[in-house]
Amino acid sequence: MSKYKLGLDYAKQQDHNDDLSIYRNQFYIPKDTHGNELIYMTGNSLGLQPKTTKAYIDQELEDWANLGVEGHTQAKNPWLKYNEYLTENMANIVGAKPIEVVVMNTLTVNLHLMMVSFYQPTKTRYKILIEADAFPSDKYAVESQLRHHGFDDKDGLILWKARAGEELANYDDLEAIFKAHGHEIALVMIGGVNYYTGQFFDLKRITKLGHQYGCIVGFDCAHGAGNVELNLHDSGADFAVWCTYKYLNSGPGSLAGCFVHERHAHKKDLNRFTGWWSHNKETRFKMRDDFDQLPGAEGWQLSNPPILSMAAIKASLDMFNKVGIKKLVEKSKKLTGYFEFLIHELNDKHIKIITPQNPEERGCQLSIQVKNADKSLHHKLTQAGVISDWREPDVIRCAPVPLYNSFQDVYHLVDTLKTILHE
Ligand SMILES: *Cc1c(COP(=O)(O)O)cnc(C)c1O
Repeated sequence: MSKYKLGLDYAKQQDHNDDLSIYRNQFYIPKDTHGNELIYMTGNSLGLQPKTTKAYIDQELEDWANLGVEGHTQAKNPWLKYNEYLTENMANIVGAKPIEVVVMNTLTVNLHLMMVSFYQPTKTRYKILIEADAFPSDKYAVESQLRHHGFDDKDGLILWKARAGEELANYDDLEAIFKAHGHEIALVMIGGVNYYTGQFFDLKRITKLGHQYGCIVGFDCAHGAGNVELNLHDSGADFAVWCTYKYLNSGPGSLAGCFVHERHAHKKDLNRFTGWWSHNKETRFKMRDDFDQLPGAEGWQLSNPPILSMAAIKASLDMFNKVGIKKLVEKSKKLTGYFEFLIHELNDKHIKIITPQNPEERGCQLSIQVKNADKSLHHKLTQAGVISDWREPDVIRCAPVPLYNSFQDVYHLVDTLKTILHE
């Protein structure tokens, strides 16, 4: 017996019983041309706008208008310290200590800055291990690091591939890779939650394995931050990066997060690129001092940050932390479990969920393979008011986000899919 039931009434009842359902109303939900709310399933790509964001940005615009440069110290939220207002909330979301977290730059930039410090190849240990279907930007970034150090980007890359006929990466295969090549691998760089399959990797297990073989281990958690409990500190990972415009709802192209494990916080001799924002805060503005490395993740900052973008992040994190990542994940498991149940109930042999069945090995996203389908399926879904994501050749990705998606959203999504498939 499933713990879920069919029918719209059940979905309505679940929304009624849901403590977090009040948060939906704190977001702008995109509408169709007739003013009906769309079924928004792409919070894994661009999170929706909290209604509070505007006021947070307006505050900074107003302080800039009234104070000019004095806003650095006199604004309601003095700009000089703005990144610090985000640190603790962000650390809670990713399961880290404040000294391990900073919000700065954008995601791929942070990945490169981390590799400047943590990818230190030698003649015999220079390879980078990455999952085979990594997000393209990550693959391009690691390939360019290999070339930057004078290595061949094909020879230097080791891919953790799913087996033939399977979609998910397998830990036995990972162990075999380490057994065969561990001594050649300088860096392990894996997407914490794979963007395509939705597979949430065991960060601790991968880190332990990598460290056993003397490798540095980092994760791109773009699809994990705000979606799953990452527990970055406990994972032991050397570094992690993520963006804030997906599950963290901070607006298109907004700033990114970066984690550097506490064990590296005070290593002043670690190779890195620096700027005035990596310098000791107390003496940063004397401008004449010799460089004095700021400890912790903040020590990787380069520039004074864009306050308007940070204000949007602050708005989102303030809301996120009112709820707490634990409660969010709790709802998320129910919502995605319900989604999985409805898909199975379609009983359609053309449909296969490629995301792991184990709730501990996934976040809210389900990637649904529809055999013999093409992009017209995605167009029909869009026409019917469902915003989903299509990945060639035949996969729809849908991410019911616990902060603003409802059980009724999920019901209507699957009902629409069913209608289209039966046409
Ligand atoms: C979204 C995403 C990116 C995008 O990188 P930007 O630098 O923010 O453009 C990179 N990697 C992964 C794994 C992603 O999910």
